[in-house]
Amino acid sequence: MSKLVIHNIGLLLSGKMEKPILDADCIIAVDGKIAVIGKAADMDLSGAETVVDAKGVTLAPGLIDSHIHPVIGDYTPRQQQLSWIDSTLNGGVTTMISAGEVHLPGRPKDIVGLKALAIASQRWYENFRPSGVKVHAGAPVIEQGLEEHDFKEMADAGVKLLGEVGLGTVKDGPTAKKMVDWARKYGMQSTIHTGGPSIPGSGLIDADVVLEAGTDVIGHINGGHSALPDDQIVCLCESCQAGLEIVHNGNERAALLTLNTARELKQLDRVILGTDGPAGSGVQPLGILRMIAMLSSLGNVPAEIAFCFGTGNTARQRELDVGLIEQGYCADFVLMDQAQHAPGKTILESVQLGNLPGVGMTIIDGKVTSRRSRNTPPAGDVPVIEGE
Ligand SMILES: [Zn+2]
Repeated sequence: MSKLVIHNIGLLLSGKMEKPILDADCIIAVDGKIAVIGKAADMDLSGAETVVDAKGVTLAPGLIDSHIHPVIGDYTPRQQQLSWIDSTLNGGVTTMISAGEVHLPGRPKDIVGLKALAIASQRWYENFRPSGVKVHAGAPVIEQGLEEHDFKEMADAGVKLLGEVGLGTVKDGPTAKKMVDWARKYGMQSTIHTGGPSIPGSGLIDADVVLEAGTDVIGHINGGHSALPDDQIVCLCESCQAGLEIVHNGNERAALLTLNTARELKQLDRVILGTDGPAGSGVQPLGILRMIAMLSSLGNVPAEIAFCFGTGNTARQRELDVGLIEQGYCADFVLMDQAQHAPGKTILESVQLGNLPGVGMTIIDGKVTSRRSRNTPPAGDVPVIEGE
C-alpha cells in the first residue's frame, strides 16, 4: 500500500461547479486514489510513503486539456517540437484528450489504415505516459466508406474516441450523423471541428452540420482559429446539450460570446477547455491556465468556477476518473500559488485580474511528477516533500 499525505493546503479547489471550494486542508491518497479529504487534525497521517507540506498554497485537480493533436511519444511533427507534453505538465495539465492524430505525416486515410492508426495510437499512449501525463489518444478521423462493423472493430480493440469530425472526407451532416451514431452505439465519444478551415486542406463546418452530426462535444466552438458568425455560435449553445469546448487556438471574442451565452442559459457546466495544440499557433504549455485567466478576467467569472471549466466539467463530460477532488478519484493534482509580484490580495483575485498563477508541483496517481514550474511565472510559495 502506498500512502501520500498532502497537508497544510491553504485553499482546496474541488473542480465542482456546485461547490468549487472545499473546507479542508489535507488529502490522503492510497495507491494513487483519493482516500480522505478533511482537516489534518482529524486524520491519521501516519505510515505515509510521501508527505507533502503544501506550505499553504492552493491545490486543484490536475488540469485537463480536452483538445490536443498528439502523434507519438513526446514529439510533435506539427511544429517539429520535442517535450511539448512535458512542457504542458509544467502548465499544470495532467490529462490530455486527443481530437485526432492528424499531424502524422502520411496519415493513412484508407479504412484499414485509419483503423490501424487509431488502435496503435491508443496503445502507444496507454503504454507510455510522457513525464507521467495521461494522454487519451487513438481518435480516428472518419472518412467516407467506413461501415458500422468498422466502429465495432475499433471499439472492441480499445478505441474510445472519435477525432474531430470534418477533418477527413466526411463533411456533410447526414453521413456524419450516421457514423457518430455508430460510434456512440459502441461506446466511443465524439467531437467535431467547428468553424472555418484550420490550415490548408481542412474545411468549413457550420452550425447546421454540427447540429445534425450530434457529437458529444462541440469541438472548439470558438473556432480553430476562424470562428462561426455570432448567430451560429448562439444557436449551437441554445439548440443542443453537447459540451461547449473553448480552445486557446481559437477566437477569444467568440470564446467570450460562448461563455456569456452559456451563462444566460444557466449552463456553465457545459463549458470545457482545450488548447488544440500543437496547432498552427504552436504548442501552448500554459494554454489551459491562460484560458482560465482570460475567461475569469474578461468574462467576469469567479476564478474558482473558471478552474472547474478546465477540470471537473471536462471530467464529467468525458466520464474520466480524474478532475474532481472526491474519494475514489485519481490523486492527480496541481499545486499553485499567486505568482510573485502579481497584483491581487489572493490567488483567486489575482487570476480574476487576468494573471496566471505559479505552478509549484504536479502529482499524478499519487506520485510527484514535477516541482516548481519552469514555464509559469514563479509561485510565491512552493510545496516541499518532507524528509528531502
Ligand atoms: Zn479543428
